[in-house]
Amino acid sequence: MNGGVTEAVKIIQIPLLRDNYAYLVVCEKTNEAAIVDPSEAEPVLRQVEKEKVALKAILNTHHHHDHTGGNPGLLGRRSLEVYGHMADKGRIPGLTHPLRDGDEVRVGQLRARVLFIPGHTKGHIAYLFENKLFCGDTLFVAGCGHLFEGTAEQMHESLSKLQQLPADTLVYCGHEYTEKNLQFALTLEPNNKKLSGKLEKVRPLRSRGISTVPSTMAEEKETNPFLRWESKEIRANLKSRFPDIGSDPVSVFAKVRELKDQF
Ligand code: ZN
Ligand code: FE
Repeated sequence: MNGGVTEAVKIIQIPLLRDNYAYLVVCEKTNEAAIVDPSEAEPVLRQVEKEKVALKAILNTHHHHDHTGGNPGLLGRRSLEVYGHMADKGRIPGLTHPLRDGDEVRVGQLRARVLFIPGHTKGHIAYLFENKLFCGDTLFVAGCGHLFEGTAEQMHESLSKLQQLPADTLVYCGHEYTEKNLQFALTLEPNNKKLSGKLEKVRPLRSRGISTVPSTMAEEKETNPFLRWESKEIRANLKSRFPDIGSDPVSVFAKVRELKDQF
């Protein structure tokens, strides 16, 4: 809600490649749209035609090919603005609007706030439209991205920033990794009932190929081991296996990330 006025926004999830999600964000008042993280061009253009919307912009969360691979194909067919972090100049194909933390992006009458959340890559950003968060490969449902270009400190700081968003924030992430993430999370917190309950819900959905995204920030705080550096169970579990581990949140986060890399 924004001053009591509900934004007319429509989000269409487009599954691409093996397990990527792109999102068509439509301003229903003006019929203008932006595409978040187009891995491929053709399926996006088909969706744009089906919805009869005017595609105006590409919003990239980071430079990886599975999030920008559709840029050239889209730009070959349409004249579009391309948004991404300024650190990704030269890495995001066709970038026209280099961004920094706190910038605003407009799609029709919709506004998104840009959050700089490095760690997975050094130019990773999220786009926040009201309570809808497009966070690419930083925060997944029950998981987080690999530390390809950043440190555990940076990623911890970025995730801390995201978890401060309101509980009803919808988490639209870049991949369908939920089931495997939950399986890993349960190895660290077998007594977390919210976690086992979520896996029970997710399994039948995934066996039918149904999306588990979006999640909410409230659910992530209850179940995502990469936001649960204060969990007594996780801490006790790590301490018993790694007696020398530090008790600060970054050390806990870094160890959880390391264990997930081996899972
Ligand atoms: Zn990535
Ligand atoms: Fe990715």
